[in-house]
Amino acid sequence: MRLNNEMMEILIALLRKDSFDEKLFYQFSNLKQVKDLINHDKILNRKTSVDSLKNSLINAINGNNDDDQCYMFNDVRKNLDELEKIIQRINNQKKILTNNIFTEIEPYAPKEPFQDCTYYFYAGGIDGGFSEKSGEIYINIHNLLRSPDELEGILVHEFYHARKHPFEISDFFVFDFSEDNYLKTTFNFIFEEGIATLIQLEYRKRGEKFNNNYEYMKILSDSIEDIYSKNEPPEKSMANFFNNFDHMYVVGYWLAHTLYNHGGKETLNYWTLEYDYKKCLKIFIEESRKGKIKSGFSKEVEDYLLKHCC
Ligand SMILES: [Zn+2]
Repeated sequence: MRLNNEMMEILIALLRKDSFDEKLFYQFSNLKQVKDLINHDKILNRKTSVDSLKNSLINAINGNNDDDQCYMFNDVRKNLDELEKIIQRINNQKKILTNNIFTEIEPYAPKEPFQDCTYYFYAGGIDGGFSEKSGEIYINIHNLLRSPDELEGILVHEFYHARKHPFEISDFFVFDFSEDNYLKTTFNFIFEEGIATLIQLEYRKRGEKFNNNYEYMKILSDSIEDIYSKNEPPEKSMANFFNNFDHMYVVGYWLAHTLYNHGGKETLNYWTLEYDYKKCLKIFIEESRKGKIKSGFSKEVEDYLLKHCC
């Protein structure tokens, strides 16, 4: 576990000042980590840029609270000492945390694609963290202020994403909702986030908070049905599902959980190692047709998906 605190050090130095320090911000904006953060937000269709970060920092330094929905730099600024303590605590527990991550992932995934990772600390925004390159993980320290218990869960969730991929992640995980690709896009995201969430929550038996899976499955099922039966443009129809990322995590968790119950990590490997969303989807629907569970897709959507998966 390599920890990289460079971005937090400069951010904290910037926010400790009484006035905005252009020179220091220039150093900040040229960090690889800031570029990665901007890129991450771009993938999620957010409008983060060097300028938007700069404006929010200036507002926070000037004590302007109105600007705090986006990066929450105001709140970050109020808690600098506390954030430094969290970083120190992670640093002190590095060894235990690394061991725990490997122990927690073991029941769900094979060892091979996992490696020692670099953890970059940052603060601001709503995400707990993200990982878009093999071996690189971003952890939002500010998020841990309110939920310190989630640290290990977030670490292991991102660790799953950071496994070695046989492709560039930015080429594979693309929001492409064209007629040909919308099912691939939808289920790539669902299985990747679903298994990461399963590992994050299931180890501690915390998945039970996801009791709205059928409500969200209906949104997904209706969106797919509208596309093939009413010729609804996929981009518009799938937006009903993707406008709230909770849908993706909850539905993904439900599908991953069903696959895991079916055949343990060997079944999850169809995704973890082979990235075969069709095989995973087929197993999920077939499981439901055996009568043990209800998939949450309508019968027509199940038929349509099974045909697509053949
Ligand atoms: Zn994730």
